[in-house]
Amino acid sequence: MARTIIRGIPVSAGVSIGKALFLNRNRYERLPRRIISPRRIARELERLNKAFAATAAQLEEIRANVPAELQEHGLIIDSHIMIVRDPKLSKTAADILEKHAINAEWALEKAVDELGRVFESLDDPYFRERLGDIRIVAGRIMDQLLGGKKDLQALEGRVVLMAHDLSPADTVELEVTRIMSLVTTLGAKTSHTGILARSLQIPAVVGVSDLEEKVSDGDLVVVDGFKGKILVDPSEDELAQYEELSDQFHDYQKSIIRFCHLPGETRDGHSLRILANIELFEEVAQVLDNGGEGVGLLRTEYKYMNRRDLPTETELYEEYSELASILNPRPLTIRTLDLGADKMISSFGALEETNPTLGLRAIRFCMRHPKIFKTQLRAILRAATQGNVRVMFPMISGLKELRYAKNMLSECRRELAMEGVAFNPDLPTGIMVELPSAVMVSEFLAREVDFFSIGTNDLIQYTLGIDRTNNHVSYLYQPLHPAIVRSIKHAVDAAHKAGIEISLCGEMAADPFCVPILIGMHIDCLSLNPQAIPGIKRIIRQTTTEECASLLKLVLTSSTVSRTNRLVKDIIYQRFPEELTFFSSLLESDEGNGNAP
Ligand code: PEP
Ligand code: MG
Repeated sequence: MARTIIRGIPVSAGVSIGKALFLNRNRYERLPRRIISPRRIARELERLNKAFAATAAQLEEIRANVPAELQEHGLIIDSHIMIVRDPKLSKTAADILEKHAINAEWALEKAVDELGRVFESLDDPYFRERLGDIRIVAGRIMDQLLGGKKDLQALEGRVVLMAHDLSPADTVELEVTRIMSLVTTLGAKTSHTGILARSLQIPAVVGVSDLEEKVSDGDLVVVDGFKGKILVDPSEDELAQYEELSDQFHDYQKSIIRFCHLPGETRDGHSLRILANIELFEEVAQVLDNGGEGVGLLRTEYKYMNRRDLPTETELYEEYSELASILNPRPLTIRTLDLGADKMISSFGALEETNPTLGLRAIRFCMRHPKIFKTQLRAILRAATQGNVRVMFPMISGLKELRYAKNMLSECRRELAMEGVAFNPDLPTGIMVELPSAVMVSEFLAREVDFFSIGTNDLIQYTLGIDRTNNHVSYLYQPLHPAIVRSIKHAVDAAHKAGIEISLCGEMAADPFCVPILIGMHIDCLSLNPQAIPGIKRIIRQTTTEECASLLKLVLTSSTVSRTNRLVKDIIYQRFPEELTFFSSLLESDEGNGNAP
């Protein structure tokens, strides 16, 4: 048995076996704190200044080498260069050093604390947010004082890169060919680390809370990106097992990728459109390579995060247009801003809500900030002249919000027409069905939109009353709970009755245990992370609607989630044993993943 097994959230599939290397672990643990003699003050000030200058030079070099496709990261690095060049931090640190006659590292630490107190007392979210950036920059200056950061270029061979967190600047700096996998203490399903790992096609596990205590540099580790496990010092048997699993995964990937461009069609001729969920522009290549037939969900909030200002209409228009033209004639479904809860933007900071998930999120945030909403809607309407763009509103709870959003869209159309700016007057409009109330009134909503997309990540959260980011209740996150299956079926039937398309874009769309049930309901379309497309297409192509409809019938007779899960697992394991080895299923929570009481 491995010396230790620690767990986190799997965000990119695969296995890697290698030596651990921490990028920025316990930066302050070895922080020297010394009183210095007055004679040494000048020398210590010089050390401090040199560290600021070296950090500025380092950031400028990173900035100059940011690849074109990561220009968004470049903007963040620009703001970090401004911080290191702004005298506020350097002067505060120098004053403290002189006043207290202490070494440069300690003075820098105190300066950050002091600025932190001032910024926090300002009650301005913008300044509070800036503090995070100051801390990141101060970490780099501290690395210089402590003898420079680890030089990844000088490493022998490839490593399993571990970090407390990976900032976009860290990410750009990484020599990606040297990295076998990524593991971080912080992070959640949609964090930057996962997005990067998926586009590099390396395994990644985030949210490993005891990583820094349990792993040391140089430890041999296995990273299991399927189940989110890190095995420290694995036994010979475990190594052999994982080597075999890794070989099998490579063979499996090779075998499925060959067929990923075939249509998502069942053996009896029912076809499903297989679209992709993306967060960043650069993921679009992976969508096309993996057989995605378009984008079913563009999560636009990422464009607003990690920056000080808000994107302009021109900036958004250019990005949406470019995406639409790369995808043309395939669809590009742009979801309007789903900010709030865990996805807050710098310009607003945290809203300090007691229950942010039930708070000013998504469409509610846009209703409160119509200017921000209209800027985005105008950009979407303009990009839609290409003909393949659709717009989708998140967190719609009923007709009132939908009508508000559609009115805003009309207002933007009128403005653009008056200004003589080209736009698409017939932009298809849809909503995310992700609140129980939307399911209950889906018959009414369906009459006023062109399509539905079921957001099961939120629908499960709000129907079963469990915070989707709370580890203590994750065992209750059950996609095949009878209430969820019935809700999805209700929405599918309502959409079909009204003659509109219905898609599903939550994580369930990538879960092989759930997909056959969705096929049984005659869902029209699935939208999932690009990496999972080939495997899900293969499952669809090996099954028939008839077989899926009988499974659905059985599932609908089940009154408990445990029975449904058992039933589904028995059948699906028999039918698709090979696929299932490599998929992590949402159904695992039923077995109690350590948190069930
Ligand atoms: C969902 O809620 O299922 C969804 C796809 O949206 P997000 O995960 O961005 O909330
Ligand atoms: Mg959602």
